[in-house]
Amino acid sequence: MNGEKQPILVLSEDSERQKGRDAQTNNISAAKSLADTVKATLGPKGMDKMLVDSIGDVTITNDGVTMLKEMDIEHPAAKMVVEVAESQDEECGDGTTSAVVLAGALLKKAENMIESGIHPTTITRGYRLASNKAIEVLEEIKTEVDPNKKETLKRIAETAMTGKAIEMDKESLAEISVDATSRIVTETDGKKEVDVDNIKIVKKAGASVLETELVEGLILEKERVHEGMPNDIDDARIALLNSAIEVKETETDAEIKITDTEQMQNFIEEEEKTLQEMVKKIKKVGANVVLCQKGIDDLAQHYMAKEGIFAIRRVKKSDMKKLVKATGANIVTSIEDLDPVDLGRVKMVSEKNIGDSRMTFVENGDRGKAVTLLLRGGSEHVVDELERALNDALKVVAITIMDGYIVPGGGAPEIELHTRMQDFASTIEGREQMAVKAFSEAMTEIPKTLAQNAGMDGMNVLMQLRALHEKDGLKNHGINIENEEFEDMLENGVVEPLRIKTQAISSASELSEMILMIDDIIAAKGDHGEGAPEGAPQPGGGMGGMPPGMM
Ligand code: ADP
Ligand code: MG
Repeated sequence: MNGEKQPILVLSEDSERQKGRDAQTNNISAAKSLADTVKATLGPKGMDKMLVDSIGDVTITNDGVTMLKEMDIEHPAAKMVVEVAESQDEECGDGTTSAVVLAGALLKKAENMIESGIHPTTITRGYRLASNKAIEVLEEIKTEVDPNKKETLKRIAETAMTGKAIEMDKESLAEISVDATSRIVTETDGKKEVDVDNIKIVKKAGASVLETELVEGLILEKERVHEGMPNDIDDARIALLNSAIEVKETETDAEIKITDTEQMQNFIEEEEKTLQEMVKKIKKVGANVVLCQKGIDDLAQHYMAKEGIFAIRRVKKSDMKKLVKATGANIVTSIEDLDPVDLGRVKMVSEKNIGDSRMTFVENGDRGKAVTLLLRGGSEHVVDELERALNDALKVVAITIMDGYIVPGGGAPEIELHTRMQDFASTIEGREQMAVKAFSEAMTEIPKTLAQNAGMDGMNVLMQLRALHEKDGLKNHGINIENEEFEDMLENGVVEPLRIKTQAISSASELSEMILMIDDIIAAKGDHGEGAPEGAPQPGGGMGGMPPGMM
């Protein structure tokens, strides 16, 4: 054919498009600017951010993933950065800021390389080689730990909480985290499993953080339904019910025509009798505590109180599941089916005052597998940030128990990686070598930022650390931000689970590879809200929803 052929229009005229370098620059700068935003929070001396949402609610946090989630981010590449933080959070609970800072550094290096004429495909290949090598090196420098050794686990929890608002209480919080996590370890075929979702978190402002406590059992944020019921039940036999305790309204309701008072009376008596029977059944089976997922009729409450039964209604479904584990009870669908074997048993069920509310404690001494952390703090903000800090602490402890490997913190592994990857780069032929070098340099962004955030001279700290690693072979030396000394971080106990580092490196690398391979952004015009797919550009904003300053 000849060259006069008209181009075929595939896209609607409204859609906007950026190609080649423009597309890359746009994506890279969006991701980079997000990384720059969270960078200031990295490490023990990182600052906190105050986030105000559209209805004016305030969150004050130092937690990378929380920040990114709360920010109203529209740029598609920036959203990919948020996903990196989210997957880091899911896998490890910690290291979210580091993952994003690394991704930012990798993209910045890539941008420079693209400018000097290196093709993105080459960079991507180099980054892939480098990240594989980095994981290999981490496997070489990791340290095995005894997952039963409480002191090590405590150090790991403390490192995860360093720099958070609740930092001054980190010692006692670390102790609580380790105790809570150790309690829910299960073992199958010699392999330890820990699911921190089995630790229930209850938050209540109005007391100091130090009052935060571990309860051996479950706390339900509910009070008993009737004041006449006993407040404490020793040796509790618990029925778990997932249907209402009431007389079922007959489906033919509308057809019952009550014509005279006698009939009315009969009807009421009939209902009362049914409820009474239900309570009798509960009593006969031997239950003295009823935890019901649905409602409980007023009259039934009254009868239960008379029988000395403790009852709660509208228990959360998630709590019902935890109660099964905590008490050994089976959830029963109707009282008719209730059998003594379905009952669970615990030492004590009781109602207690926590701050200005009443809560029910289902406690079993140290027998059961269920634990609750009752978080306290001077205000809602403090309790919320405490929850985020404990989320990190619990997960890192859990990971260490499962994996059994740690690495030093304070930038030590990043510098060691830098050193060894520089050597590795020189074994690589062709232009990929530049990318591997760039990758190894990006690793130093972590110690540099840790130092800068503490007001130290980042470049100077880097030089000293490199000397310690390259010349003196001190592979565990990092910068201790607490006292600004260069120290062996394994010895001083600033340690992290290996998985935090491997996950952060591989996801940061994958993200930059993915962003580098995009050379075409096609943005459909938003159809004004509702129907627009998530991440689709919003109307009005230039190149589809790209935030100002990101163009
Ligand atoms: P992330 O979201 O990545 O976990 P953090 O703000 O929690 O970000 O900072 C984690 C970094 O801080 C890690 O590199 C960790 O080794 C480092 N760190 C923690 N405690 C210290 C310390 N005392 N001295 C130096 N670095 C520390
Ligand atoms: Mg952290």
